[in-house]
Amino acid sequence: EVVKVLGNIVNIDQMTKETQRLKTQTRTDSMTGLLNKNTFIADVASYLQEGEQTNFCMVFFDLDHFKQVNDRLGHLVGDTAIKEAAQKLQLNFANVDFVSRFGGDEFCIFVKNIPIETMQDKLEYLRQKMYAEYHKLDQTVKVTASIGAVYYHRPEKNVQMILDEADKAAYQAKCDGRNRVVFREIM
Ligand code: GH3
Ligand code: MG
Repeated sequence: EVVKVLGNIVNIDQMTKETQRLKTQTRTDSMTGLLNKNTFIADVASYLQEGEQTNFCMVFFDLDHFKQVNDRLGHLVGDTAIKEAAQKLQLNFANVDFVSRFGGDEFCIFVKNIPIETMQDKLEYLRQKMYAEYHKLDQTVKVTASIGAVYYHRPEKNVQMILDEADKAAYQAKCDGRNRVVFREIM
């Protein structure tokens, strides 16, 4: 009987681990380990429903001329560049924040309850940090990021609206010449 009980404990432990593994797999992007787009949106939505959240920031990072990395250095180097960019973002935000790969070379981050100056400093620091060079034979490609951020002083529960504002800011960063931060405040 005792042996049988022990056996059950082991199996339950394995089941818990397997359940956890499957849960992580469905929530994340397999290449980078960051949250995937759907999970990110759902997590932000539920955070905004929790209460009157203020002083938060939604940020888009889109790598500049990334097709050149693939075209000149190959897809494997492209994949490495995406993974390294993801790692830099993950390392520079708190565990409570939501960091996602939105798709392709685009990342989206939601930062909770942060002073505006801290957020601005962080983005300028990250803009510099995102700079990377990749090589293959005599070819070198420089990677930078265009960053669009929208900071809400007031509560807003509509995630799609917040994403649209951040997307507009990122588009502006591309139009203004790339490798820059466009930061908008909403009172
Ligand atoms: P822009 O400065 O306007 O952002 O130009 P871009 O070349 O970066 O173009 P865009 O952001 O529209 O396209 C992203 C490109 O990233 C498209 C595709 O070639 C590449 N890409 C997307 N996902 C992956 C991936 O998983 N691996 C690799 N190697 N490349 C990818
Ligand atoms: Mg791009």
